[in-house]
Amino acid sequence: MPKLRYADTRTAFVDGKRVYLVEVARVQRVLIYLVMGVVLCYLGAIVSLMSPVRMSGWAAMSVFSTLLLAAMVLAICGIVQTVRLATAAGESLTVAVIAGLAMLVPLLGAVVLLLINGRATGLLKSNGVSVGLMGVSTPEMKRLIVGACASCGYDIRGLQHNRCPECGTAIPVLDLFNPVNPCQ
Ligand SMILES: [Zn+2]
Repeated sequence: MPKLRYADTRTAFVDGKRVYLVEVARVQRVLIYLVMGVVLCYLGAIVSLMSPVRMSGWAAMSVFSTLLLAAMVLAICGIVQTVRLATAAGESLTVAVIAGLAMLVPLLGAVVLLLINGRATGLLKSNGVSVGLMGVSTPEMKRLIVGACASCGYDIRGLQHNRCPECGTAIPVLDLFNPVNPCQ
């Protein structure tokens, strides 16, 4: 499947700001994994401190610090995703960086990640995108991409016939004659 450019993805206007819905959906999927990863690291760290019987103090401390370090690495990934989300949603980069720095604070980081994830979900839902437990599903993601077959995601721009050459799904006439605006 030819990869569509960022600009080809479906956009929405929220409070006068252009929102790249597909990019927001992609960031949100990553955020969900980051939240789970950070929570698991913290839980692991707490458990390692609470079970001194099986592990020596030194071993417990090294497990604890390794997990805390892993949580920090995930938080840094969270900062990158937050900046990416702000860019896709037309939001202030300053706010994104401040939120990102808060992520480095243990425990607060998980809360901030959850809040940002909730914000992305709200943004997607208010624009008619269905968001599941694990974010936007792959079929839903394909539906969001302008000029892509709603069934398999194949690039259908410029096609002369009304069936997807890849999977045979009928393509609505509107999609065929709705070229992507190059100015977007
Ligand atoms: Zn198709």
